[in-house]
Amino acid sequence: MDTNTTIGTPVDFAINAVDPGPVPHWINGGPVLSSDGTSHAVLNPVTGGPGATVSLGTVVDVDVAVRSAAGAAWQWRKMASAERASLIGSLARLIRENLELLVTLERAETGKPRAVAEAEVRGAAEYFEFYAGLSHLPQGEVINVVPDQHVYTLREPFGVIGVITPWNIPINQAARAVAPAITAGNVVVVKPAESTSQTTVALARLATEAGLPRGVFNVVLGRGDVVGDAIVHHPDVRKVAFTGSVAVGQEIGRVAADRILPLTLELGGKSANIVFADADREFAATEAVRAFTTNAGQVCSSGTRLLVERSIHDEFVDRVVDIASGIRPGVDMGPMITKGQFDQVQDYFGVARQEGATVALGGTMAREPHLEGGFYINPTVYTGVRNSMRIAQEEIFGPVLVVIPFDGEQEAVEIANDSEFGLVGGVWTQNMARAIRVSEALEAGQIYVNTWSTASVQTSFGGQKRSGYGREKGIEALNHYTQLKSVTIALR
Ligand code: NAD
Repeated sequence: MDTNTTIGTPVDFAINAVDPGPVPHWINGGPVLSSDGTSHAVLNPVTGGPGATVSLGTVVDVDVAVRSAAGAAWQWRKMASAERASLIGSLARLIRENLELLVTLERAETGKPRAVAEAEVRGAAEYFEFYAGLSHLPQGEVINVVPDQHVYTLREPFGVIGVITPWNIPINQAARAVAPAITAGNVVVVKPAESTSQTTVALARLATEAGLPRGVFNVVLGRGDVVGDAIVHHPDVRKVAFTGSVAVGQEIGRVAADRILPLTLELGGKSANIVFADADREFAATEAVRAFTTNAGQVCSSGTRLLVERSIHDEFVDRVVDIASGIRPGVDMGPMITKGQFDQVQDYFGVARQEGATVALGGTMAREPHLEGGFYINPTVYTGVRNSMRIAQEEIFGPVLVVIPFDGEQEAVEIANDSEFGLVGGVWTQNMARAIRVSEALEAGQIYVNTWSTASVQTSFGGQKRSGYGREKGIEALNHYTQLKSVTIALR
């Protein structure tokens, strides 16, 4: 790295510090404050009061981070894959060893129940474990079809990858992109959401402790329209992996069109969960509730449109409402992670009223005295919903379910596919021929039959339609973090 570069002040930063000052960026293997010294206070979603103070990065910070990454790119790319695997495996081990700290940091910013935060941190470790085991991939092919020519292909890393993540599952989403990206020989500059920065910085710190060379894993904190925008525009960033809203995905897409910049876009969803009359109804009802209340509904793959065969509609809805009414905000379900999200969900309660939907459960913020000030929403179920209503078409991103009756398989598929999104679909039936037909007909990147959202890190994940393109997870993600090169050698 160019040592003359202006860089923010290096600071001490331990992930277990009681008062670490502003959470710093992680650039070139160490913690630094912003080049202009600015930071902001994040709101604590549990109390509504002040939370951590976090550095706000600048265009200069992004430039320093990208140049640091670019400086490390060749060394990382040329490292023997077994050595890279060993370092990535060490990072996974450090995540597990620091589980308590990471869970504490994740909960401090998101207010999630302990079990939820713990599953996310374990999941982050799993990404690095899984990809460390695949470090001998990706490989090319030999394609010798022309006489007197030896032709082979190589899967090469892009170089610097910009990773931009949302606030709902912070450490897990950072790991989901970073693990395959660095395994494929890329270096990264990660920008987490403004409100949930700490575990991503902690992850980068652990990467340095694990022995990853300086510059391989950088984190720049701050605003999307400053830091995120600077990453997407930086000429040395060769690919961007974005997880977030459709609107920001579109903005990034416009920049990418000008730059011919490859993207992976993991965007929103309004996923249909279809329950036929012959389903195991008790299990289906339990899973239907889990599908929209996990992480308080702040999951892109939430099952938020429940389509129920008309003959069992009333009975099934009663059971769903019964189970969902036992989910306690503040105990089983965390708050909305940002104030903006808290306000948005309540705005949709107003939309539901205007559209004439019937409240079967909730439709309110949680008002218990011990939750006062926090951004808590009660589990909410609407019936009397038509699929054309805004509450059935737009992603609310809270614990809000709309229920729509259907008659027969064809109508179920038509309603499910009548959506701009295409992330996940659920099918509940004992008729396997129907399960296969419906799975094929649904326009979504992931289908779950008689279960909901239980896919592992080994299974590819991504959207169709406005839910995005490209794939994370699985072996597939490695291919998305490489570019093909063919080499043709004349044998003379
Ligand atoms: P968001 O789009 O507002 O922000 C996502 C990230 O983009 C943040 O880090 C933000 O700072 C950054 N950003 C904002 N403007 C930018 C710009 N102009 N240039 C570059 N970066 C910019 O999303 P959010 O509110 O943080 O997260 C919620 C959304 O994320 C939901 O729509 C949800 O469905 C989606 N999501 C999708 C997946 C998936 O895998 N498909 C997973 C989780 C969340």
